[in-house]
Amino acid sequence: MSKNWVWVPGRQKYLILYHHSQDHQVLLTKLRRVKADVEEVEVKDRDHQAALLSYLSIQKMGTYLYGFLPETMIHSIAYVVKEAGFTDDDMQMCAPGDKHRPVFCAHCHAVFFVEPGDEITCPECRCFLEVSDNWSVFHQAYLGSYSFKEGET
Ligand SMILES: [Zn+2]
Repeated sequence: MSKNWVWVPGRQKYLILYHHSQDHQVLLTKLRRVKADVEEVEVKDRDHQAALLSYLSIQKMGTYLYGFLPETMIHSIAYVVKEAGFTDDDMQMCAPGDKHRPVFCAHCHAVFFVEPGDEITCPECRCFLEVSDNWSVFHQAYLGSYSFKEGET
């Protein structure tokens, strides 16, 4: 199971199943940028499956589904999605986990995902960053602010 999603362009509509709303914000920003028809569905728990199945069954052909779900839910939900008629070409599931989060680089404005840890290096500009708990609505990511390593001034 992948931790990160892959962009699939050119679909009529995109459907996002999520459990933690922050997991798919980077994708959502991208979909809005290309003005895609997008719908978000919160999957609360496994009891949700019957309602989910009937909802998924009425989706139009050509709809692409992204699932951002915890490891514990992902297999049962993927089963429901396939029951509703989605094939492997129409869907992808990823389990970002609680620890995988998008970070916005204050220096070069790149958005990327990080594993846990307070200090990281930006993959774009190689800047040393400190990840804050400030969620940026504009960038749809946590703010990573420039941090001086010890000994540097
Ligand atoms: Zn950067």
